[in-house]
Amino acid sequence: MKKAGLMFLLLIIVVKSYCWGFYAHKLINYYAVFLLPPEMMVLYKKNITFINDHAVDPDKRRYALKEEAPRHYIDMDRYGTPPYRTLPRKWKDAVQCYTEDSLKAHGIVPWWIQVMLQRLTRAFKEMDQPGILKLSAEIGHYIADSHVPLHACSNHNGQFTNQRGIHGFWESRVPELLAEKEWDFLIGRAAYIKDPLDFTWKRVLESASEADSVLFLERKLSSGFPSERKYAFETRSGVMARQYSSEYSIAYNILLNDMVERRLRQSIYAVASFWYTAWVNAGRPDLRKLADKDFSEKELKEFDKLNDKWNNEKVKGRDCD
Ligand SMILES: [Zn+2]
Repeated sequence: MKKAGLMFLLLIIVVKSYCWGFYAHKLINYYAVFLLPPEMMVLYKKNITFINDHAVDPDKRRYALKEEAPRHYIDMDRYGTPPYRTLPRKWKDAVQCYTEDSLKAHGIVPWWIQVMLQRLTRAFKEMDQPGILKLSAEIGHYIADSHVPLHACSNHNGQFTNQRGIHGFWESRVPELLAEKEWDFLIGRAAYIKDPLDFTWKRVLESASEADSVLFLERKLSSGFPSERKYAFETRSGVMARQYSSEYSIAYNILLNDMVERRLRQSIYAVASFWYTAWVNAGRPDLRKLADKDFSEKELKEFDKLNDKWNNEKVKGRDCD
């Protein structure tokens, strides 16, 4: 009886999944810090815990703000077929062509990254330390999301192809299982990005082109895999839960030919390069001069409020579950 009760408890434990997963978002921001030049490292390394912890604030905000969700994705397949020439790459032109509402209905991540870049550049110019840290952590999130194939596809959780759960499978389960043990995140140095919008679009179009493989290869694997071994009770973040088995996850990763690791590495490089670009465009301010300014009472309360909403409310708009 006791055993049956325990099984029931295990079955009802739901492991929430998030865009790139909390684990991968934190990892991306963390490793990005080590690609920075010493003039920036002086601020970022000292605050690496903050940059790491707050990588996930934009996902938490999806529980507080309905405008937040479309900032994390763009359904490229809503705009025809590659290379999607009908969709203007510049925001103003795209609005003229499709209206703001309809763009927002299908996601706006490439443009939102540019808004965040402008804000971060301004924070550097104003030597606003809390602003630099907060915006760095958050732009890292959106850039990382733009590298996820299922963030560029309307079948974002396999809901149209009977593959529900594939979103978290690709971006959470696989990296949580393999990143620390097998993957390499020594990537070199951040680079200046001359045309950030163009850079972003290249990455988004790569994501869109990889979405088909993400879906197709899982269907292929599933059809030839013993169904009783597809899922297993295994620990995740210290919690025992039913999820894609390690065996199935490893087989999927092999079929993907290291796509998840590659997109993680590209995310890390892009995040560091955007931080670096904002700093250069702000005139390379001397970050050693920044007073060790803490967050204000008001800002700290905002963080608490965000956590509160995330813990107690339902997600507004599209979810990754
Ligand atoms: Zn996200």
